[in-house]
Amino acid sequence: MKETIKVPSLPNEKLSSERNLEQVESQLMELFSVSEDGTQTEIEARITAIAQSFLHTKNVSTDIELDSIVEKFTDSKIPVEPSDVGDYIDYLTESVVAHSIHTSSPRYIGHMTSALPHFVLPLGKLIAAMNQNVVKVETSKAFSPCERQALAMMHRLIYKFSDDFYHQHIQESESTLGAIATGGTLANITAMWCARNASLGSKDDFTGVENEGLPAALNFYGYKEAVIIGSTLMHYSFEKAAGMMGIGDRNLIKIPVDRNHRIDLLALRRTVAECRARNQLIIAIVGIAGCTDSGAVDPLLEMAEIAQNANVHFHVDAAWGGPVLFSKQHQHKLAGIEKADSVTIDGHKQMYLPMGIGMVFFRNPQMANVIEKTARYTVRKGSIDLGKRTLEGSRPGNSLFLQAALNIIGHQGYEFLIDSGIQKTQYMANLICLRPEFELLVEPEINILLYRYIPEPWRQKVAKGELTEADQQSINQFNELLQNAQRQAGHTFVSRTTLDTTCYGKGKSIVALRAVLANPLTTESDIDAVLDDQIATAAKLPVLTGYDQLARSVANDD
Ligand SMILES: *Cc1c(COP(=O)(O)O)cnc(C)c1O
Repeated sequence: MKETIKVPSLPNEKLSSERNLEQVESQLMELFSVSEDGTQTEIEARITAIAQSFLHTKNVSTDIELDSIVEKFTDSKIPVEPSDVGDYIDYLTESVVAHSIHTSSPRYIGHMTSALPHFVLPLGKLIAAMNQNVVKVETSKAFSPCERQALAMMHRLIYKFSDDFYHQHIQESESTLGAIATGGTLANITAMWCARNASLGSKDDFTGVENEGLPAALNFYGYKEAVIIGSTLMHYSFEKAAGMMGIGDRNLIKIPVDRNHRIDLLALRRTVAECRARNQLIIAIVGIAGCTDSGAVDPLLEMAEIAQNANVHFHVDAAWGGPVLFSKQHQHKLAGIEKADSVTIDGHKQMYLPMGIGMVFFRNPQMANVIEKTARYTVRKGSIDLGKRTLEGSRPGNSLFLQAALNIIGHQGYEFLIDSGIQKTQYMANLICLRPEFELLVEPEINILLYRYIPEPWRQKVAKGELTEADQQSINQFNELLQNAQRQAGHTFVSRTTLDTTCYGKGKSIVALRAVLANPLTTESDIDAVLDDQIATAAKLPVLTGYDQLARSVANDD
């Protein structure tokens, strides 16, 4: 019957949109269906091939200007119809993958991101497939105790407490040995949040800073202001923490460092006394174990003692340097870290895990109770819901990477990785000292090297220690150009920073080339190649003496 009814007024558009809807439905259902026979789909095979070819590329990047890549991403309209996954992958390969940085390249030795062990790729696929949300047990079950176990292993590496201690706390819902965050930034912020709440807690009829706010808390305890103290080389995540906690950036007190980039202890002691005299609450003293610029480690033992005497929370930012604890030969450099109230370590740096694994550890398993939040429908009191005492809410099961690495790589494996990174740094430092083209600027403590290129006209003066301020400026300009040119060519890479404290003393701004030797794939001949590339690149650059020239040449740079 239906077919016989004529509906002449029905617009064609509607007919086509109905057909379209059916098509959308079938496409969508296909997107959500799982292949039953377990074989790899064509798409999966292609992605695997793309990843393999990406990982095998030795060059650091293409020499295409970033501006022309930016132009490819200026359309803000959401595509209307679903499209074929294969077509999208073609687009992705061409526009994104081709112009991404080969952070695993053995000649990419400028940042803290490097090669990953191969098991993280299939594991990543499993984590995505399982899509656990570790905010609560109801969406993660086994992942929650598994994460707690991995964190306890790392806690033990730092604090070395007894079997009894770990037996008691490892799965005790009221204890928090550590927490995972997406990175060192959030781990540091979490630590500062705990320190603030612990130092301005509830007392008598005052319910604590978390509930009543900072002004009321300072008022109740009779403080004028609250501060955080660390060295000038503190990571900028502490500025974020100070801003968010409402103490203000300017109350992040930065103590000068010595020429080896370690905090000046005399100045620290003086500042602590001054803060007390000024009636300022010191929320935390921050020590750095492996500072981002140079890898330097603060004198943690002495700092711990200063903090203890002042009854102040001591936090160690070991985002970079923490895993040095795996090395029998080098762990003494971090002596005192075990006295810290809290410690940050990044899994995605020297633990060779994918991005998104920051960790904060607490000496006192009850410390994190001061940031506890619960919700009635989820994240319940008394449960081991991990979201109770973390800054983040929904979170992926990334701790599985950590758990896997601790099992597969093991203590000895990490020790080997740390030791060989430091050994390669010594190799490169020696080359820099031997080659007249280069100058070492700071003695490396672990595996970050700061050096610079000295153009020929200044080499004599450098040797005699006769560089003037103007000479320094010209050399600075040359090194900026050199690093830009090297990055643009894309064969090798080191990063660049500006230092206030070097072998030239304090207060002189020196542009430095920065090498981070952490990639297990980097060999001595790769290090030779990076320095040779710099010498060859430098030979093609004009030796500049005027600031105007420089301003013109780097006008479009970052
Ligand atoms: C990398 C780093 C951080 C920040 O960590 P993210 O993972 O980038 O958020 C903090 N402190 C130090 C010393 C670092 O090296």
